[in-house]
Amino acid sequence: MTSTVDSFAELGLSETLLKTLSEIGYETPSPIQAQCIPALLEGHDLIGMAQTGTGKTAAFALPLMEQIDVKVAKPQALILTPTRELAIQVAEALQSYAKNLPGFHVLPIYGGQSYTIQLKQLSRGAHVIVGTPGRVMDHLERKTLNLDSLKTLVLDEADEMLRMGFIDDVEWILERTPAQHQTALFSATMPEQIRRVAQKYLVNPREIKIKSATATVAAIRQVYWQVSGMHKLDALTRILEVEEDFDAAIIFVRTKTATVELADKLNARGYAAAALNGDLNQQMRERVIEQLKSGALDIVIATDVAARGIDVPRVSHVVNYDIPYDTEAYVHRIGRTGRAGRTGNAILFVAPREIRMLRTIERATRSPIAPLTLPSRADVTNKRVTGFKDKVAEVLNAEGLDFFSNIVAQIAEEQNVSAEEVAAALCKMAQEGRPLQVVGEDPPPARAFERDDRRPAAFDRDSRKPRSDERGERGDKPRYEDRPRREDRPARPAPAGDMVRYRIDVGRDNGVEVRDIVGAIANEAGIESRFIGRIGLYDESSTVELPAGMPAEASNALKRTRIRGVPINLRPDEGRPAGSSTGERKFAGGGERKFDGDRSKFKKKTFG
Ligand code: AMP
Repeated sequence: MTSTVDSFAELGLSETLLKTLSEIGYETPSPIQAQCIPALLEGHDLIGMAQTGTGKTAAFALPLMEQIDVKVAKPQALILTPTRELAIQVAEALQSYAKNLPGFHVLPIYGGQSYTIQLKQLSRGAHVIVGTPGRVMDHLERKTLNLDSLKTLVLDEADEMLRMGFIDDVEWILERTPAQHQTALFSATMPEQIRRVAQKYLVNPREIKIKSATATVAAIRQVYWQVSGMHKLDALTRILEVEEDFDAAIIFVRTKTATVELADKLNARGYAAAALNGDLNQQMRERVIEQLKSGALDIVIATDVAARGIDVPRVSHVVNYDIPYDTEAYVHRIGRTGRAGRTGNAILFVAPREIRMLRTIERATRSPIAPLTLPSRADVTNKRVTGFKDKVAEVLNAEGLDFFSNIVAQIAEEQNVSAEEVAAALCKMAQEGRPLQVVGEDPPPARAFERDDRRPAAFDRDSRKPRSDERGERGDKPRYEDRPRREDRPARPAPAGDMVRYRIDVGRDNGVEVRDIVGAIANEAGIESRFIGRIGLYDESSTVELPAGMPAEASNALKRTRIRGVPINLRPDEGRPAGSSTGERKFAGGGERKFDGDRSKFKKKTFG
């Protein structure tokens, strides 16, 4: 790890937050946290170059929470995020850090959600607002959001906000915040326009960058699995069962709580596994490592700090169950395998939103990481059957079968069946509670991520979805977005390919670009951008093709939507047929945008 700071206590956080962090299982600050937290606590403005997976949320959330006066029922911090999903995630993170702060109230506000609900929530007095720029702007205009007591403003994923066409809205908001406040800007990249915004609105900012020093990795086979369609735990056990040359593994997770949970689950599935985390004293830690060495344990589930320096030659596999915070942590982790001249295997689990970190690791280590296809049911069954046959062969080669042959012969005679049938019955008995035949779903085939990570986020909204694939396993509460009342759910979309053309009252004269339209529609109506069809830009208006069968709630949300401050007044277009206009452009990537009838084009959301 790059971090030389071993504990949150060194960063100047309050006892209350330290207690919370320990309770939720955070052991050590990630490198970005180690650097940002003290700077923000000292009151500096800050530019943090960090992406998802580095722990950036806690890096700004924890210092910001130290500033909140719970007794003052007014927004004291505003966090702007490019998408509603991120707004919800950030709000949830803050809520979890507030578990020992009674009365603390964080509110996500985003396009598409009912104003009535938002107004009610706003009037109750939230301390922190996490919102998408368009909706925050709306509330400021309507004077339903008052920033007079603002102490901290955070721009999260600023480059994404730029790509989605929200940068003007962000500036509009920045112009209307009180002069005296702290500003932190987080961005994975630093395009010119973001730099310009930082120069204009941040005062003497500290610039913090997570270095991704290039490092060479030993000859280790490196693969990744894109987390989807299956729980990480199920995927892990399938992989472990089928991997060639499996001897022992170290599995890395982020929190000490997760080490214990995963160890329990693997034990329940018959693995000899134990947790290794900072709560263990030196003696207990050494005992676990000894057991791994001797073969009393096959799997150790560890946090980064606890696994520092482990040198156990029989570790054939390292699994990055949770992606590391930075390249250095990755290199350190996978260095636990391939020791003493043996071959090593490193398996990385990557959630869609962590794709950028995967690419950073590949670049820094200068070694490609190949996508891994999860073993199928048949693969696992075959592996188990082969192992079983080997065991039988071993027994066949041993002495002393006469007594048992006699029993088989007796059973065959008494039951009037063949010896083969008796053998089959015995095989069935011998499964020992672990069936040879694997039942259940097969995972979807391996899917390499899009190579082009620079696509606008709007075109890649899958990566912004809440991590449904991880849900349940972590025992998460349902997310805000998952709790629409039944009647709130949008209707099923129309059959494949049906598009309706709409007209909106903004065009080139308003300085509108295609990406502004996509960003606004995607966020306000909850339509994934890939389902947004051709967009025609004219001087005073524009056209946009949207899937037929749009639920009334979505079209109402769009009627109220503003782009660059102008109400768009969305309505079916009665003008020229699609394609005849000279001003028409095919939307990014061009081509017909078809959707299959099985997929919901309108995301689940609460319409009010
Ligand atoms: P982020 O990069 O902010 O999206 O955080 C990624 C994940 O890391 C989240 O699930 C956080 O809960 C988790 N996380 C952040 N900081 C820490 C930490 N210091 N220790 C353990 N987990 C953390």
